[in-house]
Amino acid sequence: IEQSAYQNDKLAMLGKIAASIAHEIRNPLTSIRGFIQLLQPHLTLLGKEEYSRIILTEIDRANDIIYEFLNSSKPSAPMTQKVRINNLLKEVILLSDSEALMKGCQIQFETYDEEIAVSIDVKQVKQVVLNIVRNAMDAIGELQDERGGRIDIITRRDGRDAEITIRDNGHGMDPVTQAKLFDPFFTTKAAGTGLGLSVSYRIVRNHGGKIRVASNAGEGTEFKIYLPLAE
Ligand code: ADP
Repeated sequence: IEQSAYQNDKLAMLGKIAASIAHEIRNPLTSIRGFIQLLQPHLTLLGKEEYSRIILTEIDRANDIIYEFLNSSKPSAPMTQKVRINNLLKEVILLSDSEALMKGCQIQFETYDEEIAVSIDVKQVKQVVLNIVRNAMDAIGELQDERGGRIDIITRRDGRDAEITIRDNGHGMDPVTQAKLFDPFFTTKAAGTGLGLSVSYRIVRNHGGKIRVASNAGEGTEFKIYLPLAE
């Protein structure tokens, strides 16, 4: 799914607004959280511990949203470095392996070319891959069925690009979800922020690359990230 120019403007504007107000919202949230915690013993005595639990959860959720924005919506140019894309992917897999195990899925890595080099902001691109791998684990985790979850990560050269495929056999998406998945704040998860993919989309675009997605409900999802090869 390619995004329109309108969508890009919307994302850039949202990033600017968020960066400027995020700090202002974070401070009061931190003090509200502190005072709720102080109140907790009193609320428990009143039999209202459920209320404080909800308040704390909601404050944390708001904080997560702000954190993700601050972390990734900075419009600054990427800090580029020439790296082998496979090394980055192996690091992400290492980071994700224990979480994958808990969710009952296996991550497999395969490459058609060990040497593929790209000029990228390593931190940002790592975040993109992590976001997509986490979504894949969520899609497998929510299935709760007998067959094993599987995530395949495959790299190869595609013309002047490095192509990274991330495929899962999770619950997949219907066309309505697919049309919205790069929208900021679009989420189908109870505790989701809906920011992972909109942020990932922007990062990849800033690198002169693109993201494609193909999915079938009940079968699985395949993301393809294209990044220009290093000179
Ligand atoms: P979040 O993970 O917080 O919901 P994202 O922007 O990362 O935010 O994802 C948006 C939505 O796209 C998810 O809530 C989910 O519905 C859908 N989605 C993303 N990746 C997958 C996947 N691999 N399989 C199924 N659905 C997915």
